[in-house]
Amino acid sequence: MNPTGAVPFGSGPADALIRAFAAGSLIVATYDPEDVLRYASAAFKRAFRLEAVEGTMTFADLILRGVQAGIGPRIDCEDARVFIADAQRRRRSRPGQRFFTTDMVDGSWYWMTETLLDDGWLVLVGSEISPLKENEQALANAHRRALHEARTDALTALPNRRQVLDYLGSAILTLPAPGTSVAIVLFDLDWFKSINDEHGHLAGDAVLCDFAALGTSMARPSDVIGRIGGEEFLIVMPGTAADEALQFAERLRQAASNRIVVSLVGKQVRYSVSAGVTQASHQDTLDALFCRADRALYKAKRRGRNQVSVEL
Ligand code: GH3
Ligand code: MG
Ligand code: MG
Repeated sequence: MNPTGAVPFGSGPADALIRAFAAGSLIVATYDPEDVLRYASAAFKRAFRLEAVEGTMTFADLILRGVQAGIGPRIDCEDARVFIADAQRRRRSRPGQRFFTTDMVDGSWYWMTETLLDDGWLVLVGSEISPLKENEQALANAHRRALHEARTDALTALPNRRQVLDYLGSAILTLPAPGTSVAIVLFDLDWFKSINDEHGHLAGDAVLCDFAALGTSMARPSDVIGRIGGEEFLIVMPGTAADEALQFAERLRQAASNRIVVSLVGKQVRYSVSAGVTQASHQDTLDALFCRADRALYKAKRRGRNQVSVEL
């Protein structure tokens, strides 16, 4: 605008906008009240390959043509007509502005602002946000990984103490009807310090991994086995009473006593485990339950190790 306020012919606001959109990367389109595309910026034409198109085209034509040609927005539903009907409800329900993201078939993402004017004209402006989206996805992945790592034991890849105790806490809170139960088994490797002393720490680590894999392979899918301390493991068995958990613990103890782990220098390392079994009652707290399992384990140790005890 010049200082007198007069706008020279051919360089008014609309003209300036159109010149800017002709070369830039903004997706801009206007649709008339009949939903016929009346203006498309260069970037919009590129996205929908409209350069060579002649004649009029509605929003629905544009989407259907995009589906056939594999261009334009990614459409989740099987039937493009369902997508169009859905989009029309959102686009034309009431005058005002809507903001949303759209991902395109080519993998790019756009931040869209759609304005429906009182007279039925509709203006779409979109800017590409693919790098932001990639950042967002990388952050979400990093967050997921960090959460997983915070709840996983790095050596054995089993749930760690926090995860298995959280699980146990919710399992006893939601203890089902009387007659059903949650049992737990606390395992502790016997004379583990001597294994380290005799064969080295790495051989000790290999024994821990061996027992973790063995326990995982023998547990049912509904059981959760975690490493809760150095050489201590806890199995939470929902829907299981103490006698059934005792049988399981006995089978796992027996299997562990038959394992042979080969150390880095080729030595055969044998190991055994002791276990304490208990089951949760309706009034149980996590502490009380855990104490009982610990007492049972202590009993098994005192009686000579490589055995299972129960405490109810
Ligand atoms: P008990 O039969 O009474 O359980 O004897 P123990 O030797 O197994 O028990 P103790 O508590 O004396 O020793 C546990 C050992 O476990 C000591 C510690 O160095 C070792 N340990 C703890 N975490 C790890 C680990 O991640 N890797 C290895 N290799 N050893 C570990
Ligand atoms: Mg121990
Ligand atoms: Mg031990």
